[in-house]
Amino acid sequence: MAARTPPHPDLRFSVEAECGAARAACFETPHGTVRTPAFMPVATKASLKGITNRQLETLAPEVMLANTYHLHLRPGEALIRAQGGLHGFTGWKGPWITDSGGYQVFSLSARTQVREDGVTLRSHLDGSAVHLGPQRAIEIQEALGADLIMAFDHCLALPASREDLLAAVDRTTRWTRACVEARTRDDQALFGIVQGGTDPELRRRSAEGLLPLDLPGYAVGGLAVGEGGDLMRAALRHTTPLLPRAKPRYLMGVGKPLDLIDGIHEGIDLFDCVLPTRNGRRGWLWTRDGTVRIGARQHAQDDAPLDAECTCEVCTTHSRAYLRHLFKTGEHTAVTLGSLHNLTFLFDVVRTARAQILAGTFETWRASFTERFERGEARWQAEHAADPDAAERSRAADAERRRDENG
Ligand SMILES: [Zn+2]
Repeated sequence: MAARTPPHPDLRFSVEAECGAARAACFETPHGTVRTPAFMPVATKASLKGITNRQLETLAPEVMLANTYHLHLRPGEALIRAQGGLHGFTGWKGPWITDSGGYQVFSLSARTQVREDGVTLRSHLDGSAVHLGPQRAIEIQEALGADLIMAFDHCLALPASREDLLAAVDRTTRWTRACVEARTRDDQALFGIVQGGTDPELRRRSAEGLLPLDLPGYAVGGLAVGEGGDLMRAALRHTTPLLPRAKPRYLMGVGKPLDLIDGIHEGIDLFDCVLPTRNGRRGWLWTRDGTVRIGARQHAQDDAPLDAECTCEVCTTHSRAYLRHLFKTGEHTAVTLGSLHNLTFLFDVVRTARAQILAGTFETWRASFTERFERGEARWQAEHAADPDAAERSRAADAERRRDENG
């Protein structure tokens, strides 16, 4: 079987500059050069919610992410392949990455059955059985045709027992080998996913299992799944050094501005997360002075821009008062404008981080950016600690998060 497996594509990954562990790098894909650090926005169903391709051109993401599980269910990978893969189907011709569906093992775990050949889960649409495993995940991802594809992994919600984590680590290693053998295309770079929760020994065991496969890139999976910021940073600190310096490193599911900057500080190159669009839809808008909850009364008559330093269409055209009005009245443009601004903000953060690494000033910038952002967050907490509406909004936000978890 292994004899038929095509060679991995050469991404020609090159580190341009380093500040401590942080690095500015670039690599090649069949659909263009990727400059890192880079944030990859999540187009779950092959669409970045609320954003058109024309707006996407302005945002200019280095890589777009689409979700294997959701596209397998609707419209099905055969249709997308017939339409020219993700590039032809969506009309977005830049680099794409697809996840493997492995994350659904975690996020739909109540409906999931794990066996050695993969996972059977119940479709969140109609309850029908869906089988995903290493072979199937590769088959679907080859049909979708992304430039970067992910190995099928077993990701656990934290906290989890050491026994369960160990089993998931070893299963992920076996599944990754099966993914390598299942490949038939030589133009898609397969990334392996290091698991192991927050346990340094298990992270090492996972990395040691995967590195002999000499994959084009490696991801840190199984973080930002309920462990909290401090544990995540600690896990990242002992995991990142285990990954090859000469290959891209991808931290999955992380997208809060400060988590991103911390990840870059630890030597991560790629990130993805639904937060910019999810928070954008609910009116939680990032600024250099922390998160603005645009629905709050204090913005009702505020004619200032959302973020005076942001160059996006929202901040250069509209006042906070107008934005609040759109959110309060449920106008459709609110979703687009909120998402557009949050995406612009996050892209600004990673691009500035890259420029600062190239200039050798990353750590100074990181300290001042973090200090200003945290000061704004603390101010909001202090002002709204006694806000009677806050608990209700938080419950509504949690409900929306659960609904969004699968879409
Ligand atoms: Zn803006």
